[in-house]
Formats: sequence, C-alpha cells, structure tokens
Amino acid sequence: MSGLTALVTGGTAGIGRAVAVQLAQEGAEVIVHGRDAERGASVVAEIEAAGGTARFLQADLADAKDVQRLAEEAGNVDVLINNAGVYKFLPTSEMTEDLFDLHMDLNTKAPYLLVKALAPGMAKRGRGSIVNISTLAAAVTTKGTGMYSASKAALEQLTQIWAAEYAESGVRVNTVAPGPTRTPGTDAMDEATLKAVADTTAMRRIAEPEEVAEAVTFLASHRASYITGAVLEVAGGRPAIG
Ligand code: NAP
Repeated sequence: MSGLTALVTGGTAGIGRAVAVQLAQEGAEVIVHGRDAERGASVVAEIEAAGGTARFLQADLADAKDVQRLAEEAGNVDVLINNAGVYKFLPTSEMTEDLFDLHMDLNTKAPYLLVKALAPGMAKRGRGSIVNISTLAAAVTTKGTGMYSASKAALEQLTQIWAAEYAESGVRVNTVAPGPTRTPGTDAMDEATLKAVADTTAMRRIAEPEEVAEAVTFLASHRASYITGAVLEVAGGRPAIG
C-alpha cells in the first residue's frame, strides 16, 4: 500500500488502533484520527518505531462541523476506515434522546459525511477503498441493542448504496462486522459479562483486535480488488449457530 494515504477514524484505541498499525505495516501513510491526543501520539510512535509513517488528527465526530474539518485537514485519502463508534446497550425505555442522537451522529452520520467529502476525490483519481466497521449486532439483534444495532444497520445499508454508486469509478466499499472483541471499550465490562458474550460465539471466545484488523486490512488492500458491497463477519462462527 505504499504511496497510499489511509484515514482511520477512532485509530487511537482498540480495533482502529490495530488497523492503523497493520495498514502502516502494509506501507500506507496513516492518518490516525481520535479525540485523545495522548493516545494518538502513542499510536503514531508505535507506527514510526516500526518504520512506518503516521500523523494524528483530532476531531469530535459527533459534531458535523468537526467531521468536515477532519476531511479538509486529511486532504487526499485513498483508504478510509470508518471505525470510530459508540455502543451503549440499553432498553428503549432507558435510551435518552441524547444517546439516540450520539449513536446516529457518530455511527451513521460521521461516516456519511466523510464518504460524501472524500469519495469523490477517490473516484476522480480512479482508485479508493472504504471499509465501514459495523457489528454482528446489526444482523443478530437482541434485547437492549436497540439504537446501536439500528445505527450500524443504517451504516451497512449505506455501504451497499456507496458500493453501487462508486463501483465503476474504481472505489470499493465494504463492511466488516465484528463479534465481541477485546478493546478499551469492552474492557469496561466485567469478566462475567465478557464470558457470557464470548459464549454466544461458536468459538466461545472473544476476538483480539488484531484478528478483526486482518479482515479490514485485507478488504482495504488491492488483494480484495474484486470485492465491493460485501459484509465480512469476523465473529467466531456466531452466524453458524443462529
Ligand atoms: P473503543 O475501544 O471504545 O474505542 C473507540 C474509538 O473511537 C477510540 O479511538 C475513540 O477515540 C473513538 N471515538 C469515540 N467517540 C468518538 C467521537 N465522538 N469522536 C471521535 N472519535 C471517537 O472501540 P472498539 O471497541 O475498538 O470499537 C471500534 C468499532 O468497532 C466501533 O465502531 C464499534 O461499534 C465496532 N465494534 C466493536 C466491537 C467490540 O466488541 N469491541 C464489536 C463489534 C463492533 P478516543 O481515543 O480519542 O476517545
């Protein structure tokens, strides 16, 4: 991927961090996006120590103006990984309007605005790859996943639309739908909850972020040159057991 610039949103932690590191290993110049400058500096340092190239850009993706600023500061982007996300598991009766808006703004609207801002440039240059990080919970719903599942289901639907819109311009758009993955976000859960979630997979374990990142890096790369509009589930065989 040398000569390509990759923007990874939420690249400061968890799955995004692992993706940023792998894309840099593949030779891409990586823009690590996040809110936390200290976390950002640490990912950039890790990439540079391994001989890669990276820089950090800060933006709050719950704020549409900040999303726009991020797109402008990023410049020409060849690979866009829409990874930053929020997941609060609450029954509808306890979901506040503010949390509803946060899920839609961060998980759905920010990717929409970034694709709107950056995909036309990719199309003009005749190449580009976008990977949107969804969740298995978009397809396999259960009590309390309400707004999280819905915001990611909307993202998956948009992914298909973008795949159709940009296919002839040489821009591919795909989804990776992870199952439960060990990240700073899920570290907040207690061990019993994590074990219960792990037991919902056929493999009966949660993923490491690097395992999810492998799928993202593959779809982002030219190795996936004939794949667009796909949903790749990285979920320990969860779909195999219903
Ligand atoms: P995480 O550990 O909670 O980290 C979240 C990342 O998103 C951080 O880099 C954070 O930046 C960034 N972020 C959060 N709110 C933001 C905001 N308002 N503006 C800009 N950046 C923001 O996340 P994760 O568990 O790796 O999840 C990454 C993606 O995978 C999410 O889209 C999630 O829905 C999806 N996913 C996760 C799992 C799982 O089990 N972990 C399963 C399925 C899908 P800062 O560091 O600056 O805060």
